[in-house]
Amino acid sequence: MPTRIFINAVYFIAAFLFILGLKRMSSPVTARRGIMWAGAGMVLAMLVTFAWPGMNNYLLMIIALAIGGGVSWWSGGIVKMTDMPQMVALYNGMGGGAAAAIAAIEFSRGEMHGATARVLAVLGGFIGTVSFSGSLVAFAKLQGIMRKTLHLPAQNAVNVVLAALTILSGISIVSAVQASTFPIIVFFALAFTLGAIATMPIGGADMPVVISLFNAFTGLAVGFEGYVLNNPALIIAGIVVGSAGTLLTQLMARAMNRPLINILFRPITGEAQAGGTAVAGTMKDISALDAAAMLRYAQKVIIVPGYGMAVGQAQHKVKEMSQLLGEAGVEVKFAIHPVAGRMPGHMNVLLAEAGVPYENIFDLEEINSEFSQTDVALVIGANDVVNPAARTDKSSPLYGMPILNADQAHNVIVIKRGKGAGYSGIENALFYADNTRMVYGSAQQVVADIIRSVKELLEG
Ligand code: NAP
Repeated sequence: MPTRIFINAVYFIAAFLFILGLKRMSSPVTARRGIMWAGAGMVLAMLVTFAWPGMNNYLLMIIALAIGGGVSWWSGGIVKMTDMPQMVALYNGMGGGAAAAIAAIEFSRGEMHGATARVLAVLGGFIGTVSFSGSLVAFAKLQGIMRKTLHLPAQNAVNVVLAALTILSGISIVSAVQASTFPIIVFFALAFTLGAIATMPIGGADMPVVISLFNAFTGLAVGFEGYVLNNPALIIAGIVVGSAGTLLTQLMARAMNRPLINILFRPITGEAQAGGTAVAGTMKDISALDAAAMLRYAQKVIIVPGYGMAVGQAQHKVKEMSQLLGEAGVEVKFAIHPVAGRMPGHMNVLLAEAGVPYENIFDLEEINSEFSQTDVALVIGANDVVNPAARTDKSSPLYGMPILNADQAHNVIVIKRGKGAGYSGIENALFYADNTRMVYGSAQQVVADIIRSVKELLEG
């Protein structure tokens, strides 16, 4: 009994650290420390579990921790920032799989008491398995392992039938006096297939939202299995992950103006991507020297970074350029769209890493009204988040998504490698506008050229 009190007290501290960590992660200034706090909570919860009464598989636990910890330490060190979404999908899928494994083991042991525990075990097993297989498909798609988007003829009907069959087999497990192996295997096989089949048609810009949804599922599944194991740390961690994942999913869906129901049941297809009014006109390109002159002699510049800045690893050069312009008397601000890049906060993380002062970075709502009084909007590797079709073209799949009003600046300079479309695959009229000039090349190289030219202008 005293051991249980001690364990629960440590779990309480761990839960406090999770929540404190999460709170601190909500600002780039404190995010790094937040991750450390939450990590410390994780380690504490893990260590004290060794003292759990009846725990005797120490060797197995240590081997599992060494393998899991080793693989994640190594992969976390080598993953590129642009590959982060698939990394999150993979880790998250493992969480769902672990929750499902708890349910499977508890059922096969046949020692589960009480209807509530049995129902929650089935629910956790269901949600965890869907999250596991769905996250694996998401990983395979984002990693380029699965290139095709598989869309079954009556996709939604297939999903509904599979979900109904899974629920029925779950009910049969709950109501059985002693669950036998076969129904348990059928239940998990059905849930696994449902997760994979339902994720296959989803693609493009919807993918990060689905990953976040599976993240919320995993949290929920872990919370349910925590109840089954009577483990308060799992219940709290599950609830925290589940609610944070749900909020993040809502935030992304709202920022893209794509209701979750459409993301899941009406995926953007090639047909929809071809939608939207055709863009007329030509793109007008200028040299890095011309761009440097426009920036050097501007009074106010707003930089709009996007996915291309991340791919080009240009954040350090961008910071150097903004500092140089600032020293030359130009007012420079950064405008961040909530879904710029490939995950929420992607641009904030990169700019923070490069040392751009936080007070120069502004969210969409804070800065959108300033574009019309800005001499130059400098768009670096961003596309969908500045596409005016979202505001004006009802036939565009982007219609309704809030965008940064870069087109309202007196002049727009766009840095990108060529005529490539954005993540949504849709043409961008901004690039053809009269006040827009293109500077072609990879972001890092172009910004380095601009820095050199600005220095020459300042010296000469
Ligand atoms: P984007 O629409 O994907 O456009 C990125 C642009 O960068 C491309 O047009 C590409 O054109 C250019 N580019 C690629 N590599 C480059 C390089 N090395 N140097 C310079 N330019 C380069 O990006 P975005 O404007 O950031 O929009 C994000 C998209 O992701 C949106 O559609 C959003 O809905 C979606 N999404 C994001 C999140 C999130 O949480 N952030 C979540 C869900 C969906 P070139 O090929 O011509 O260079």
